[in-house]
Amino acid sequence: MLSAAELLQELLDRARPLDESETIGLADARNRILAEGLTSYISVPPMDNTAMDGYAVRSHDCKLPDATLRVTQRIAAGQMGRQLHKGEAARIFTGAPVPPGADAIVMQEDTSLEGEGVTVYKVPHPGDHIRRAGEDIQPGTSVLTPGTRLKGPELGLAASIGRTEAKVFRQLRVAMFSTGDELAEPGRPLKPGQIYNSNRATLKGLLTGLGVEVVDLGVVADTRDATIKAIESAMRLADVILTTGGVSVGEEDHVKAAVEELGRIDIWKVAMKPGKPVVYGRVGDADFIGLPGNPVSAFVTFCLFARPFLLKRMGASQVLYRAYPVRAAFDWNKPGKRREFLRGHVVTGEDGAGEVRLYPNQSSGVLTSAVWADGLVDIEIGQIVIRGEWVRFIPFSELVD
Ligand code: AMP
Ligand code: MG
Repeated sequence: MLSAAELLQELLDRARPLDESETIGLADARNRILAEGLTSYISVPPMDNTAMDGYAVRSHDCKLPDATLRVTQRIAAGQMGRQLHKGEAARIFTGAPVPPGADAIVMQEDTSLEGEGVTVYKVPHPGDHIRRAGEDIQPGTSVLTPGTRLKGPELGLAASIGRTEAKVFRQLRVAMFSTGDELAEPGRPLKPGQIYNSNRATLKGLLTGLGVEVVDLGVVADTRDATIKAIESAMRLADVILTTGGVSVGEEDHVKAAVEELGRIDIWKVAMKPGKPVVYGRVGDADFIGLPGNPVSAFVTFCLFARPFLLKRMGASQVLYRAYPVRAAFDWNKPGKRREFLRGHVVTGEDGAGEVRLYPNQSSGVLTSAVWADGLVDIEIGQIVIRGEWVRFIPFSELVD
C-alpha cells in the first residue's frame, strides 16, 4: 500500500507534459496553459498619470498652505495636457496624463475653486498621487511564464500589454466513463436496485472546470468484454482515460483486469480514507486512471490525485495544492491507520478567528458532505486532534476549478 503522498509522486512521475502547442486568441484562452511566456514591449502604465481627481500643480508654487493658482487647462482621461507654467494649475481627472511641468497632484478634496483660482490647502510633495510610467511593467519584462494557467487576472495582464494572442498547449483530451450495472441516468425512473449515476456529472463538471476536452463515454456494463471494449475506444480518442468504480476486488470489478489485458497497471492501493483503491495504468499511448466508485471517494481522489496529474499533463507548472492551518472546532480521538481527508466547513469562532467543523456523516457515499464542505481536513495516520488545535485544511479553491 502506498501513502497518499507517495501515490501523488508516482502519478506525477508518470505524467508526460504535452508538447504540442497552438496560437489562439486570448478571448478564448481561459484555462489554457501558456506554452511560451509573454514579454512586454511597452511600459504599463505607458505614461505618468494621475491616481486622483484634482489639480496638477508645480509643487514649488505651493510651498505654503493656501497658495492660489490659476486654472488654465482641463485634462480628462485620454487627453493630453499642455505645458504647465509657474503659478498655474490644471484641472485633472483619474487616469489622465500629467502635463509637462507639473510634478504633483492635489486631491480635489484638499482645494477650493473660486472663478479661475484654485486654493490649495495642503502642501503637496513632488510625486504625490502620480502613477509613474512603467511602475507596473517595464519594457522587456517577462510578465507571464510558460506553464501559467490563464485565468481572469492573467488574461487581463496579457491584455494590459496589448496582446491578442498567445501560444498555448493544445487541449488535453480526457475520456471518461462510469462502471456499474446499478447505475441509471438522471431523467429516467429508477428501477428496483438502481441508483442514479452521480459520478458522471461530478467528473464532467470537474474536468470541464479544469479546461480539458471531455470525451464522455457514459456508462459501461460490469463485464470484462464491455470494459475492454470501452477502454479500447477510449485509448484511441483520448490522452487520458478516467473511470470510476469497478476497481475493488469484487467479482463484478473488471476494470483492473481490462487494463492489464490491454496494457499495464502500475499502482493500485493507497492508505487513505476515503478512496482506496486508485489505479494507474498505461494502455497504448494513453494514461489510465481508475478512481473508486463511491461518490465522495471519486470526488476526493480526483481532486488530490487526478487533478495534479492532469494539470502536469496539460503543461501547467503549478500543479500542487496548498494546505493551510486552521483551528479545529472538533475532537478527533480515533487515531487511524489511514490518512483521512474529512469534509470540513470553516466558520468564524467566538473570538472572530476561523475554525473548521466536520460534516457529521463522513461516509464515502454521502455526497451531501462534499457540497456542505468548503475543503478537506487532512488528518495524518495516527493523529489525534483536540478542539482548538491547528489542523491542515485544504480549501476547495485549491482543488476545484
Ligand atoms: P464500486 O467501486 O464499483 O464497487 O462502487 C462502490 C460504490 O459506489 C457502490 O455503492 C456503487 O453503487 C457506487 N457507485 C459506483 N459508481 C457510481 C456512480 N457513477 N454514481 C454513483 N454511485 C456510484
Ligand atoms: Mg461497481
